[in-house]
Amino acid sequence: MTQLARLAVFCGSSDGVQPEYRAAARLLGASLAVRGIGVVYGGAAIGLMGALADAALEAGGEVIGVLPRHLAAREIAHAGLSRLELVDTMHERKARMAELADGFVALPGGLGTLEELFEIWTWGQLGLHRKPLGLLDVAGYYAPLVRLVDDMVAQGFVRAGHRAMLQVAGDADGLLESLLRYQPVETRKWLDAADLGPREPR
Ligand code: AMP
Repeated sequence: MTQLARLAVFCGSSDGVQPEYRAAARLLGASLAVRGIGVVYGGAAIGLMGALADAALEAGGEVIGVLPRHLAAREIAHAGLSRLELVDTMHERKARMAELADGFVALPGGLGTLEELFEIWTWGQLGLHRKPLGLLDVAGYYAPLVRLVDDMVAQGFVRAGHRAMLQVAGDADGLLESLLRYQPVETRKWLDAADLGPREPR
């Protein structure tokens, strides 16, 4: 079993058009608080970021925000967090979130969310961490992305072992269970051509 004292959550600074997105952010926040798992996130009060933090705080959880100073006005820092850390750059934000957390989850979001998810995934691929990584596929939002990544494996650009680092589930509790069960994948990024082998069965 993986120990998860704190989980970093990447999610939209917008709400998205379907009410399910906000509901899922709240449910994940509450579920983490009830399990005694602290939340590490981007520190904003807006969009799914705010919904996640509010729900975790209401349920008595610990919520740590990490926000770059220059975004503190634009993203509207959450005023009621357990702790808000102001950093100088986006790079510092991601590094600090990665340092504080024992695992990572992406909720629906936009370009920033994808950038954060893929950066932490590539850090895992390079062996820079062995922490679990999950995608909460609310209302099928991420189905096209999961298809793309599976095709990237089939086309020989992504190793099946690296794809397997990402747990995907449609509900928060199912995803948290699979993160807790996660056994780090042993892989090497730099491959011999033979390592890519034939297409994976799908
Ligand atoms: P979005 O998914 O675009 O709504 O953004 C979600 C969060 O990701 C926001 O807090 C953004 O400030 C943040 N973000 C966007 N780009 C980056 C980046 N390059 N590095 C770190 N965080 C980012």
